[in-house]
Amino acid sequence: MLNQRKNLPMTSYRNEVLNTIMKHQVTILCAETGAGKTTQCPQYLLEEALMNGQGDLINIICTQPRRVAATSVAERVAEEMTDRLGNQVGYQIRMESKRSKNTKLLFCTTGVILRRLQDDHELKAITHVIVDEVHERQVQTDVLLIALRQLLRTTRRDLKVILMSATLDSTLFSNFFNHAPVIRVPGRTFPVSNYYLEDLLDATNHIIEEGSQYAYRQYQQSEKTTLWVTMPTRLSLERVDESILNYDLIEDVLQILLIHPERNSTLHAPDGADTTNGSILIFLPGIGEIRSLTDRLSANRTLGNKSKFSLIPLHSKLSSVDQRKAFLPVKAGCRKIILSTNIAETSVTIQDVIVVIDCGREREVRRNKRTSTSILVTDWCAKANTKQRAGRAGRVQPGLCLKLFSSNTAESMKATSEPELKRVPLEEVCLSILASGLGKDCEDFLRQAPQPPSDESVQAALTVLEEVGAITSERKYLTPLGQHLAKLPVDVRLGKMLILGSLFQCLDKVLTIAASLSSKSPFSTFLQDAAIATAKHKQFQDPDSDFATFCNVWEGYTAAKAKSMKAGRQYCQSNYLNQQSMHEIGTAKKDFLNLLCGIGFVDKHDGSQSVYNSDLWEKAIVNRNSKNWTLVHAIVFAGLNPNVARLEESRPGSYTLWNKDQQIHFHRTSVNASKKRFDKDQNWVVFFEKFGTPNRISVTTTCFVNSMPLLLFGGPLVVKHTERIVVVDEWMEIEMAAQIGVMLQQLRRQIEVLLLK
Ligand code: ADP
Ligand code: MG
Repeated sequence: MLNQRKNLPMTSYRNEVLNTIMKHQVTILCAETGAGKTTQCPQYLLEEALMNGQGDLINIICTQPRRVAATSVAERVAEEMTDRLGNQVGYQIRMESKRSKNTKLLFCTTGVILRRLQDDHELKAITHVIVDEVHERQVQTDVLLIALRQLLRTTRRDLKVILMSATLDSTLFSNFFNHAPVIRVPGRTFPVSNYYLEDLLDATNHIIEEGSQYAYRQYQQSEKTTLWVTMPTRLSLERVDESILNYDLIEDVLQILLIHPERNSTLHAPDGADTTNGSILIFLPGIGEIRSLTDRLSANRTLGNKSKFSLIPLHSKLSSVDQRKAFLPVKAGCRKIILSTNIAETSVTIQDVIVVIDCGREREVRRNKRTSTSILVTDWCAKANTKQRAGRAGRVQPGLCLKLFSSNTAESMKATSEPELKRVPLEEVCLSILASGLGKDCEDFLRQAPQPPSDESVQAALTVLEEVGAITSERKYLTPLGQHLAKLPVDVRLGKMLILGSLFQCLDKVLTIAASLSSKSPFSTFLQDAAIATAKHKQFQDPDSDFATFCNVWEGYTAAKAKSMKAGRQYCQSNYLNQQSMHEIGTAKKDFLNLLCGIGFVDKHDGSQSVYNSDLWEKAIVNRNSKNWTLVHAIVFAGLNPNVARLEESRPGSYTLWNKDQQIHFHRTSVNASKKRFDKDQNWVVFFEKFGTPNRISVTTTCFVNSMPLLLFGGPLVVKHTERIVVVDEWMEIEMAAQIGVMLQQLRRQIEVLLLK
């Protein structure tokens, strides 16, 4: 290990790095991935201080954008220092830490240091802040940079800040920090040959021509017959290029690499480097694809003896123990196939990768215009990312990068990706700015970013926060609800539902609903079987509510899955449900629940550790009211407010937006679209998605509520617009309604303050 350290490109720059840091407030360190930035630079500072007998004076924080990087790097550095992890070197990530009072070098996620800033505005005890992977431009990193710059200019002139990155626009950051010095460490990498989709199709078609029986694929012939025919088929370039992921192709490619290297006359590493050994790293868009591909590969009989390779998933949702498996050596004769998200792109180094397979896509957060919430979108990544991914194959010897997209597509990719601040919803970041006291005015604060977001997008976020009731109308202070939402890293609307769901003890239903709203639709739609699928889906429908429908789907699925995993899969197949969405919903439920435990809204001992142990969970106190749909829908409204339309008294079944005289239409995907009869008390409709043209507005994911939820949870909406409610509640005198509205409002605030304390 010592030898390896000595040979890192960083090593010869040790003195230059230390000197520059000593002389300047801010230092920027630029080097290829694997050069030793993350493991070495913090260590140099610590070693130097220990050597000078100043160990007690130093306190370094090194931030990482991802949990897996924080833990694996901390482990590695402790090992290099022959120290026990958690002693001098530790880590802290959300809800998990290994540190002690001896800890002088702490690796943490960016979120952890931002939360720390909430309580400790000046980072009093910290001497060095190292911000790693700044080029990734996550919202949190950019916010941290603004905060650090403020500190450096005011109360912490003595603080040392170091920015580190692989491929970085160093002038942008240098200018941001008053022309800070940049140290560039040249990398040492081996050549990598790149092959594109057209080459891969050539290579794999070759297998088909050789008549391998396994290259035949099945296609369903027509919707009328259930006959399945088998026919050999070649993948067409255009279709594969367009599809998000073609599993067949990956399987064929692996078959060539692992089983039939002798048939490979096309795909060569430079200088004939040996690709029959070493690990294979596959970049996939997300966890769902990692799961599907793992399943397919382990079931694929054409890949030979399963002991010859070991499939290792690598993504942010794994436990630290499972994440570590990617770094551990495997036994001789066995090859690692690592299926990873873009986590393995820059922040973690896996030693012996020789082949990279790159899908060319990544999943990123964007704003969903229909729902004003964030959604995950799978899209082409940038040229800079694919270059970085390819580089992972040339770490220890010349390597091979196989791209699952055509060279044309590669040409048309954008050069670099846009900073997150410019494309994601800003509610969460605005909340954290106000919560941490980093800025009193979000617009002012965010305008200081290296590349600021538009004022409109900040305004839009503040409007949502005000509607949710997370900030006061001056938009400068958090309400008690806002303070809790600030600690809950989920969309604020869903966060509000979750908090209310736990307070009002109908949590499981609310968890299912929030999880379904943040995942892809559970209903899969097949063009051929549309009629059958629709019929199957009907059986889940609640007569009035898409939200209750989600719960029916989830409960049906979990009941089936309780018997066996296989039964769960079959249930999805026979009911035309999307298995991947069901996974996502399950994971999201667990995550949400853990987060609620983390901020003290759910007692860990209240059965909540066992969401899947239905007995305990169903009896848990937080679920006492789970059968009360009036309450559940009221809470859904509370989160989605003001997404609500009122019944036109004169025209039954016709609803207009609460604040405009504009009629809404139920989109066919809502259970309420085909409704013939509307009950008298269904005088408000709550919706999640709104879209269409200004002239015709469609809504979907809807339910009906009466006026009570509006009075209870309507917030400013009710006080400002009491008359609107009165229109539909004839029995209420206008004035009385107004009084009750105001009273309830005050009462609600008091309850909120008391409960949320
Ligand atoms: P950088 O931050 O510049 O990308 P790192 O400091 O992460 O580089 O890694 C430097 C070197 O240390 C890597 O090239 C690798 O050889 C080694 N290394 C890092 N982490 C580990 C680990 N968990 N296990 C084994 N070797 C590692
Ligand atoms: Mg690094």
